[in-house]
Amino acid sequence: MMWLLRSINNMSSQRRLFVLSLTSTILLVSFMIFLFYLGNKLIKAQSSKIEAAKEIKYKATNAHLWFEEIMSGDRGESIDDVWRDIDQADWYAGVLLDGGDNNVRKFYPLKDPVLRKDITSVRKALTRFEEIARKRYQNFSDSNPGTEIDIKFDTVFHEFIQLATSVETKLHRQVDIELSFYQKLSFFVIGVSTLLSFLLSRFLYRREALRSNLLTSLTDAQISIEEKNKKLYELAHYDFLTGLANRNLFIKRMDTALVQTMKGNGSVALLFIDLDHFKIINDQHGHHIGDRLLQQVAGRLLETVKDRESVYRLSGDEFVVLLNNFSALESSLLAAEQVAAELVGVLQNPYQLNGPVVFITASIGISVYPEDGINTEQLLTAADQAMYSAKSSGKNHFQFYSKELSRLIKLQAEVESDLRVAIQDDQFELHFQPQWQLATGKISGVEVLVRWRHPERGLLFPIDFIPVAESSGLIKKLDFLILRKAINQLEAWQNGNFDVGILAINISPVCFCQSDFLEKIRHYMKQTCIQANNVELELTESVLVENNQHSQMAIRELKQLGIRVAIDDFGTGYTSMSYLRDFSVDTLKIDRSFVAEIDTSKTSQIILKNMISLGVDLGLKVVAEGVETKAQEKFLTAQNCHTAQGYLLSKPLNSEALETFILSKKADNIISI
Ligand code: C2E
Ligand code: CA
Ligand code: CA
Repeated sequence: MMWLLRSINNMSSQRRLFVLSLTSTILLVSFMIFLFYLGNKLIKAQSSKIEAAKEIKYKATNAHLWFEEIMSGDRGESIDDVWRDIDQADWYAGVLLDGGDNNVRKFYPLKDPVLRKDITSVRKALTRFEEIARKRYQNFSDSNPGTEIDIKFDTVFHEFIQLATSVETKLHRQVDIELSFYQKLSFFVIGVSTLLSFLLSRFLYRREALRSNLLTSLTDAQISIEEKNKKLYELAHYDFLTGLANRNLFIKRMDTALVQTMKGNGSVALLFIDLDHFKIINDQHGHHIGDRLLQQVAGRLLETVKDRESVYRLSGDEFVVLLNNFSALESSLLAAEQVAAELVGVLQNPYQLNGPVVFITASIGISVYPEDGINTEQLLTAADQAMYSAKSSGKNHFQFYSKELSRLIKLQAEVESDLRVAIQDDQFELHFQPQWQLATGKISGVEVLVRWRHPERGLLFPIDFIPVAESSGLIKKLDFLILRKAINQLEAWQNGNFDVGILAINISPVCFCQSDFLEKIRHYMKQTCIQANNVELELTESVLVENNQHSQMAIRELKQLGIRVAIDDFGTGYTSMSYLRDFSVDTLKIDRSFVAEIDTSKTSQIILKNMISLGVDLGLKVVAEGVETKAQEKFLTAQNCHTAQGYLLSKPLNSEALETFILSKKADNIISI
């Protein structure tokens, strides 16, 4: 039974319904067969009883008939036939009481006591009939019709017939009753079994419906659990903002890629991408613009790399591109170089962000397995360090990791910690490089250039510490320290009636973009008695590009304070000339690389010419940096360049040396302020 239930449970829903309906049909048909069998048995039993009752009458009537024939003189008939018929009539009466078999059919005894009593009476009447018949046969002569014995004979026979008929009638009635009972029973049984099979089918159908509902809801639950799991997986492995795979998935895939690469002695390359000055975009335009920018950056990375499984967002503005399946180190290096170069180019194109057009660049560091590390952590650190190195050396380019780089990074870490102490203890000296008017030869100002008197390493130049100061954020403190020292120096010179003209101070873009930059400048200017227009702040052109609105506002504020503003290293960045229109600056300092190439490059001459005339036309003071030769000075003078700065006149000098220099020049009457 259990086995049956289990097998039914294991069936498909359709098959199960079929089996169950078949079972209820078989049940119904079985009931019918049973009823048919019962009815058949009943009819057989009752018809044998009626037949027996009829035979009693028939045999006795036959006997009576033959007997009367014999008595009326027909001696052709045998009296034995009469006695045999009476015996047979009695035999039939006997089987109605005790049952029996005449080789043709079987007779069942009557159960009804009244009928049994009647049959006994019939038998008695038959006996009486036989007795009187025998008596009459023996007294043949006295038995003529009309005699007393003849009349009694008729009376006894008549009584017998009446009794036999009554039995037959009662039997008929009983058979009718039994048949009607059977009929009712059949109807009842058929009704009940139909109802039962209907209820069974209904129950089975409902159970099946319930089961399939349960199955559907179970399937639904399973689907929703699977969907939830998928969502959880996505949350854990994908970045919500850009849709890129995140750090977790990167580590998993990188680990897998390394295991496979190790087996096949292949190579893997890792590109660590970091946006330059992304913070400025966020500060200036708000986080929603920053987010859109990150989405577009992610889109460009995918478009360039063309493989979703290779691009990851680690955090903030840090992305990683994983290039694997290389059979040799050389091929991974080559591919990494190509992809990195392409990415640098693609990422620096302007971004349309449903509002402002934003410019941003990226610095990329590259590490390769097995050269730069043998596990994910080592390779990631190496790529990260290479990226920092790319940032420190000018940004907007890529750089491979190398052992030398690793040494430099260590050194940078040392520089950073020394720099903190240096700022606190003020280990800095100011050097000043004079600028002169090309038309008159007079000194028009000096640029402040910082030097670090390192307690162990001696005098250090900006190249040794400014990039570290910028990347560590220490530049802000350093620039303000230099600014204060420079203003103090200018004040001291003015107090001593020593005129150096305009004092130009370099301000790093990192410092300029700080929110409290203007506040600090205002504070310093309030504390000093020097004229604001004797101070010029030198800003690199990247400031104009990267932080458009903030820069415009800050420059306007500086102008209101009376402070002059110069664009430093003009021509090296990617400033469109049109930026100059939007910024009210005073001075344009043309980068020394253009000046250096005057003698050798016709193109540089043309560019320089155009830059100078652009500055002049815009009403700006144009300063050429790095003037080393008389020929350069001559060329610049011919182009109407206003001012020059460079070794031709003087290298940067400390304050005393500058004072001596200026005084000697004055004395020689060569250069005057
Ligand atoms: P810069 O603002 O372009 O300064 C001019 C640099 O060119 C100076 O290098 C100067 O010594 C050098 N130079 C001047 N004339 C000539 C020349 O005729 N030939 C050659 N070959 N070089 C010449 P320095 O002093 O090493 O400064 C390097 C850079 O460091 C500066 O470039 C400036 O960007 C940065 N810097 C210097 N002082 C400060 C500072 O106080 N704050 C900040 N934020 N940056 C500073
Ligand atoms: Ca400068
Ligand atoms: Ca410069």
